[in-house]
This record gives sequence, structure tokens and C-alpha cells, in this order.
Amino acid sequence: MNCPKCGKEMESGDLHTQKYPFWTQQELRLFRGPTDQVDLGPLDDDDASMFTRDPFPTFPGAMLCRDCGLVTFPCKLIEKGKRRQQ
Ligand SMILES: [Zn+2]
Repeated sequence: MNCPKCGKEMESGDLHTQKYPFWTQQELRLFRGPTDQVDLGPLDDDDASMFTRDPFPTFPGAMLCRDCGLVTFPCKLIEKGKRRQQ
């Protein structure tokens, strides 16, 4: 696929992390996690419990643009929800 930013060909690989990356639109504060936090897990992840999750998750199908440093990868959205405001 091509980079959505610069349009050049992206390179395919696997994305590794030691902890789950997460997504939020809120500013991070000490001692209080964001209320809209969405953990990004591998597609085949068992997200039933924090303790059954793979401690070294791999994200296959990660696309890299060397020019922009842009990376896209398919993942499972694990919403901590419930505490949602509004
Ligand atoms: Zn690019």
C-alpha cells in the first residue's frame, strides 16, 4: 500500500512492543489514566484479562513509510470504556 501522507510505497513488516500501545485523545496526567483509553492489541489477542495477554505482542502486517516515519498496523481495539463521560 502507499503512504497516505506522501503517497510513496510502504514496506511491510511486523510491529513488536513490550507493552500494549494505547490511544487516547486526552492529556496524560500523573496517577490517573485517561478515561477514553483504548489499548491496541494484536488481532488474535486474548483480551479477557490483562493477565492472559501476550507480554510481547506482535502486530503482523505493519506498514512503514521510511520518508515520513508513518506506520500503520491492524489491531484489536480494547476499550476500557464504562467510565466514559458525556
Ligand atoms: Zn510517507
